[in-house]
Amino acid sequence: MTADHSQVTNTAEEKLDVLKSTQTVIHKALEKLGYPEEVYELLKEPIRMLTVKIPIRMDDGSTKIFTGFRAQHNDAVGPTKGGIRFHPEVTENEVKALSIWMSLKCGIVDLPYGGGKGGIVCDPRDMSFRELERLSRGYVRAISQIVGPAKDIPAPDIFTNSQIMAWMMDEYSRIDEFNSPGFITGKPLVLGGSHGRESAAAKGVIICINEAAKKKGIDIKGARVIVQGFGNAGSFLTEFLHDAGAIVVGISDAYGALYNPDGLDVEYLLDRRDSFGTVTKLFNHTITNQELLEKECDILVPAAIENQITEENAPHIHAKIIVEAANGPTNLEATQILTDRGILLVPDVLASAGGVTVSYFEWVQNNQGYYWTEEEVNDRLETVIVKAFNQIYEMAQIRKVDMRLAAYMVGVRKMAEASRFRGWV
Ligand code: GLU
Repeated sequence: MTADHSQVTNTAEEKLDVLKSTQTVIHKALEKLGYPEEVYELLKEPIRMLTVKIPIRMDDGSTKIFTGFRAQHNDAVGPTKGGIRFHPEVTENEVKALSIWMSLKCGIVDLPYGGGKGGIVCDPRDMSFRELERLSRGYVRAISQIVGPAKDIPAPDIFTNSQIMAWMMDEYSRIDEFNSPGFITGKPLVLGGSHGRESAAAKGVIICINEAAKKKGIDIKGARVIVQGFGNAGSFLTEFLHDAGAIVVGISDAYGALYNPDGLDVEYLLDRRDSFGTVTKLFNHTITNQELLEKECDILVPAAIENQITEENAPHIHAKIIVEAANGPTNLEATQILTDRGILLVPDVLASAGGVTVSYFEWVQNNQGYYWTEEEVNDRLETVIVKAFNQIYEMAQIRKVDMRLAAYMVGVRKMAEASRFRGWV
């Protein structure tokens, strides 16, 4: 399978736009909070950005040179934290934007971290298990000087998983000559992973859906939901929604979408999806991802990639609530249109903060060498996300701003304050 036929793609220009719009909102948030311009100058770009070349011996004997990135946005609050993405379209600007979003997420859920992000330009769908292992280990060797349990702690993101985290942890432990489970999160349980980490991103999203539904007077039971994207977050979320009695009327993957106003056979879809979240190839009658977003529903969850909801389709979206499980799925023009239309938009930096929250719990457990039950993890996650949701909702009401700007205002404060106390600005 190759990515060539994928409908869900972003161009390099779109990714630059994503960075620019993030900077625009950060600027507005800092202005609203009364910070001077130099704070924006510090926070508009990562403090550190490393680009590496990783030569990998392929199974056929040839050598391929991969490009990887690691961005560290701001480490005033504590070590930087964020996932590593394996994707053919990863760009430097995208990784920069993603690292800024990680800082905001950590601020929103009040973790002692700044944001970081990594990416490798590659298509894991075309690589063997052993090639992926060599690439994972090669990347860690290439970035080892700037990462570590007290410096920068990676985690999974698009197309990376607990096996890749295990190889990376092992490679780092060899370099460090010390068993270092706290170097990376999202590990398998037997290597110091946390209960509840795999489903944490989706848990965070469903907690936000529940809170947003309460505000809008919508009952989850019987609500019609569309989930765009069937990866880690999208698939777990579909399962949770189904279990909660919602009617999942639409889902999609990178190749197409399925829609049925009476509800889809969720159990069948979950059973048949592959490890990259592909399932629509099994069906003859599919629609496009863009068509799916405009279908009738009560709740829409974009859980794929950036730039899916724009000024072009925002006027045609039927949902009453949009909860962004992906990073950056809605652009700024669309945010404005949706807000003006009275649609409650729960922004990515809040809705997708469940993953990093449980990553933090994993790191705490690694540091203490004392492990929690799944129930403890889930209870703490719920407390953190409900508090963050309501704080942002109130900020939006009191300051009369949209939920995205309110989330940025809540998320940027701690990092701005920490940078000032350190005497940086
Ligand atoms: N990649 C995830 C995110 O975008 C998780 C990051 C983490 O667990 O550190 O939030």
